[in-house]
Amino acid sequence: MKRREFLTVAAAGSAGVLLARAQVAPPPNPTAPAAAGAFALPPLPYAEHALEPYISARTISFHYGKHHKTYVDNLNKFTAGTELAAQPLEAVIEKTAGVLEKAAVFNNAAQVWNHTFFWKGMKPGGGGQPGGKLAAQLDKAFGSFEAFKKVFVETGLAQFGSGWVWLVTEGDTLKVVKTANADTPLVHGQKPLLTCDVWEHAYYLDYQNRRKDFVETFVDHLANWSFATAQLA
Ligand code: MN
Repeated sequence: MKRREFLTVAAAGSAGVLLARAQVAPPPNPTAPAAAGAFALPPLPYAEHALEPYISARTISFHYGKHHKTYVDNLNKFTAGTELAAQPLEAVIEKTAGVLEKAAVFNNAAQVWNHTFFWKGMKPGGGGQPGGKLAAQLDKAFGSFEAFKKVFVETGLAQFGSGWVWLVTEGDTLKVVKTANADTPLVHGQKPLLTCDVWEHAYYLDYQNRRKDFVETFVDHLANWSFATAQLA
């Protein structure tokens, strides 16, 4: 054994197995610049702590900084060198929806879009009841704001496993719908107004298994109704 190798093994000590594994699959060089991709992680519309106490900075840090970023990174990886890399995000979603061999691209593209829309649909000091034309349309579709809220919360609870609950327009009617995993109303002829992420990663650190509390809190304290109303235009 050369002296240099001996020193490496000796220094590794009981971590020798770990070292051996690392030598088989070396981690990426952390000082290497990230490859510039066609798709970028949009900035969060507020500080990571801005939605406290309803969503913690820790949750946002993981949800935006890890989950959302990973969808962007994967989308760049899966579209690199293809004609999809030159397309707007919405076009990538439309072109890959329901295409089995493009499922990985669709899932990551849709998750990038869904998360960006989710962040915009919340604000510090949000929640409560909207006014104006959205209030009138909610009354028309659901009977009252409270009735809408009940449907929204129940639909979020009814989504088995990971997914999203949405307020959308379909034609000239407001609807509450749910989608599984990365699926998005964009590819179902519906126009999203607002969404709440009901993947466990959205609420588990703050609410554990209490998804109902999270979705109610979203409506009561976080929903950005002016953003939702702007989508009606
Ligand atoms: Mn999420």
